[in-house]
Amino acid sequence: MADKTMQVVIKDNAKQAYIGYMVHSCRTSYSDSYAEIMDRLSGRTCEVDTRHLFKTSFNVIDPDNPEIIIDVRWLFCEVINDIRGQKMKCTYCGETQDIDTKCSKCNKTDYLENLLVQRQNI
Ligand SMILES: [Zn+2]
Repeated sequence: MADKTMQVVIKDNAKQAYIGYMVHSCRTSYSDSYAEIMDRLSGRTCEVDTRHLFKTSFNVIDPDNPEIIIDVRWLFCEVINDIRGQKMKCTYCGETQDIDTKCSKCNKTDYLENLLVQRQNI
C-alpha cells in the first residue's frame, strides 16, 4: 500500500462502542450486520475511499472485500494522511474536489465548504 494512502484506524472496541451508542441514544434498534462488520474491523487500518469525503465520517474500503464500502462515522481513533485539508465539498451537488472558488461539477460558487473545520474555543 502506498505511503500517502489516506487511512483510518478503527477503534479496538468498535462493536461495543457502536452498540452502546445506539442503545444509549434510544435508537429503536441497531444493525447486527453493521455490529459484526465493526467487530471484524476492530483495531484494523482501513483505506479511505477519497472520491467522496465528509467532515465527520469516512467511506472506508473493506480490507477483506475491496468491492465493499463501509460508512464509518466515529468508530475510528486515528486518521492517517488526512487529505481533507486539501479538499472541498460542494453542498449543492455533493462533489468532492480540490480547493477552488467554484464547483468543478455544477459550477456553483456559494456551496463549497472546507472539509476540515477548525475547532471553536467555546
Ligand atoms: Zn457542485
